[in-house]
Amino acid sequence: MTSLDQAECVYHPGKAATSKCKQCGQTTCHQCTITGPTGKFCSTPCRTANEARVMQAKSVQDRALSRSSARFSILRRTASKLFLLFVVLAVAALIGSIFYIPYLSEIVFTAREILGI
Ligand SMILES: [Zn+2]
Ligand SMILES: [Zn+2]
Repeated sequence: MTSLDQAECVYHPGKAATSKCKQCGQTTCHQCTITGPTGKFCSTPCRTANEARVMQAKSVQDRALSRSSARFSILRRTASKLFLLFVVLAVAALIGSIFYIPYLSEIVFTAREILGI
């Protein structure tokens, strides 16, 4: 904060500045400082611009997050589908080995070959 000791408010020459604008870097006195949720600023346009930038960065982050979670759920759906297929084939092979079902024999043969039973 040593740089602020010599700094003057941009709106009040001669008056010591108490903070620096997060957006443009201009120094302002306590009276002129505009405090927003994203930091301290010299003017409303600077505050708005900074908030817009922060919001944009956040939305990009959110989009990336939702994209990766969507990809993950597709992967999970595919995995569960493969598991279901495996169970169906295993059951078909089991049934086929106990009872002789003509229309299943082709599937059973393939399934047994895959499962190695
Ligand atoms: Zn500013
Ligand atoms: Zn001022």
